[in-house]
Amino acid sequence: MTKKELTELTKEELSKEIESIGEKSFRAKQIWQWIYFRGVTDFMEMSNLSLNLRQKLAENYTITRPKIVTEQISIDKTHKWLLEFKDGQRVEMVYIPEKDRGAVCISTQVGCAMGCRFCHTGSQKFTRNLTVGEIVGQFMVARDAYKEWPSPTNEIRYLSNIVVMGMGEPLNNLDNVVKALNILTDGDGIAISRRRVTMSTSGIAPRIVEAMQKTGVRLAVSLHAPNNTIRSQIMPINDKFKIEEVMKACSLYQQGDHSRYITFEYLLLKGINDSEENAKELISLLKKYKLRATFNLIPFNPWPGCGFEPSERKTVENFSKLLDEAGFAAPVRVARGQDILAACGQLKSKKLN
Ligand code: SF4
Repeated sequence: MTKKELTELTKEELSKEIESIGEKSFRAKQIWQWIYFRGVTDFMEMSNLSLNLRQKLAENYTITRPKIVTEQISIDKTHKWLLEFKDGQRVEMVYIPEKDRGAVCISTQVGCAMGCRFCHTGSQKFTRNLTVGEIVGQFMVARDAYKEWPSPTNEIRYLSNIVVMGMGEPLNNLDNVVKALNILTDGDGIAISRRRVTMSTSGIAPRIVEAMQKTGVRLAVSLHAPNNTIRSQIMPINDKFKIEEVMKACSLYQQGDHSRYITFEYLLLKGINDSEENAKELISLLKKYKLRATFNLIPFNPWPGCGFEPSERKTVENFSKLLDEAGFAAPVRVARGQDILAACGQLKSKKLN
């Protein structure tokens, strides 16, 4: 009999599962805490459960982490893992440390169907959605590496933030992403605050509001262009959901809640989307839809065969200044982990040359 993987279950599902083997539901809460608060993977360590129950659990269930295939640490301490799941499929995960905190960038699919032209990940064909346990398991691997078990009870954590920006389009795997985020933010376990989780979409307009209502995390949109002509040229998804539809969905999401800020990711590509005119058009676009937003300006990290060049430093600074003067904070993201190809859009599950 194949054993059931417990990290695939939501809190409610775990409770039902434990009841189904004749145990009281409070046992499920204890097991939940062992798995997600203490990070335990061996049932025998669950010392407040009877030996009989521990044996029963070990016979019928597993608590599995994705297997680490390789890991690399950049000179700037950015940490990248190549992880493998039970069926041999692989994704990458990155930890980007700051001084006293840091963000873990997790993947939601193997490969990506969106095919953004500037993205190395997007050049790898979509294979499948990740399961709930595979999404949560990534973060748990990072927790193991930084020995952040049990979950810190104060705000001081190395792994303080989660960005759902790795491989894949999370809104195309929404059911599993919602369940995984509920597990990652659950107060009895890993307990990452929803305010510290950001989910990034390439612009699946009809699902934006639903996704944000179901997850309660922060929204980031990969915009990368001020109009349909440029956006369609670099992001094929724009042929399906035009920039206006994305803007309308963003505006709907912000309606009635002034605390909701959107981050627009904007990768600067030389001669494509980085002119003064492009910046002005971008400002008019956001003003038209009355969006409260900040920008994340990303210098492009070229990869072999990409066909794009990064914008000049002066151009980037000027672009940032124009947005800033119009009331949209637009810091330029410092590229991290360049020496190990861990920067945005560079994740690829095959081994890199
Ligand atoms: S940028 Fe995101 S959505 Fe676009 S291809 Fe890359 S991983 Fe997919």
